[in-house]
Amino acid sequence: MKNIAVIGAGTMGNGIAHTFAQSGYQVNLIDISEASLERGVNTITKNLDRMLAKEKISEADKAATLNNITTFTVLADGVKNTDLVVEAATENIDLKLSIFKQLDEMCAKDTILATNTSSISITQIGAVTSRPEQVIGMHFMNPVPIMKLVEIIRGYNTTDAVTSTIMDLSKKLGKIPTEVNDYPGFVANRILMPMLNESIETLYNGVAGVEEIDTVMKLGMAHPMGPLQLADFIGLDVCLSILNVMYDGFKNPKYAPCPLLVNMVRAGKLGVKSGEGFYDYSESRKAEKVAAQFSK
Ligand code: NAD
Repeated sequence: MKNIAVIGAGTMGNGIAHTFAQSGYQVNLIDISEASLERGVNTITKNLDRMLAKEKISEADKAATLNNITTFTVLADGVKNTDLVVEAATENIDLKLSIFKQLDEMCAKDTILATNTSSISITQIGAVTSRPEQVIGMHFMNPVPIMKLVEIIRGYNTTDAVTSTIMDLSKKLGKIPTEVNDYPGFVANRILMPMLNESIETLYNGVAGVEEIDTVMKLGMAHPMGPLQLADFIGLDVCLSILNVMYDGFKNPKYAPCPLLVNMVRAGKLGVKSGEGFYDYSESRKAEKVAAQFSK
């Protein structure tokens, strides 16, 4: 594997492109938005500068990494002659199915098609292609250049050979891949989301306040961040959508999103990205103070 296409230059896409490029792969970074591509490359440059300042990489490493990245706005151009496509576009099922249909037509027969989806079924995505055995989940964690885990999700039809190619490739990126099967929430979100939902339920039931719940989990369970603050960072809309996927997928009430979470999303309180969730991030100083408190 040498040539990789990454679709989507947002939070995850730019991190994935950065990680491949820093490991010596040629990366075609594709987004429908020129502004997103520009922001993505700026973020990669800033993150490389931070690594440079910490003497984790050299000037030459930074230049080589940036040199390995080419940007595209036209999908067909960006995926030409690539060995692997990693799709990290917006989490929307219709969008992803449409992208994979196009990829199946545009890419060479042996190209492996991976998705970074947090919650959409790999089997369902694979089913819109003529190569479901070559469709796989590569669920990177945010921030990608730092987080070691890649959850490798096998769709119902994904072959052993494709799985082991992607496991080996992830190791070459300096990551620790973990193989899981394709059921709602995979493993990471199946375990994390019910915990976040229960912390919201605990608040909703008036058992304790926001800071108290986070303090119990942080100090009592040695979690680096409390669950309510983590939900704010992930985005309350994202948490709601993943819980709904699990609720629909398992038809089990234990995954039903807490009514407080539903109400907050309806009210536009989405966490850090909207300026308010369980904490108030509207004044930057205040947000910094909260973040500092939780990163101790
Ligand atoms: P984001 O909103 O930051 O970025 C999405 C990007 O996709 C945008 O730049 C958008 O312009 C681009 N895009 C939309 N339609 C496109 C198309 N047709 N072709 C090319 N680009 C297109 O989203 P994100 O947080 O980076 O999430 C991307 C994927 O990663 C989602 O599937 C999400 O579930 C998954 N994910 C996110 C996180 C996280 O913490 N943010 C963690 C793990 C996985």
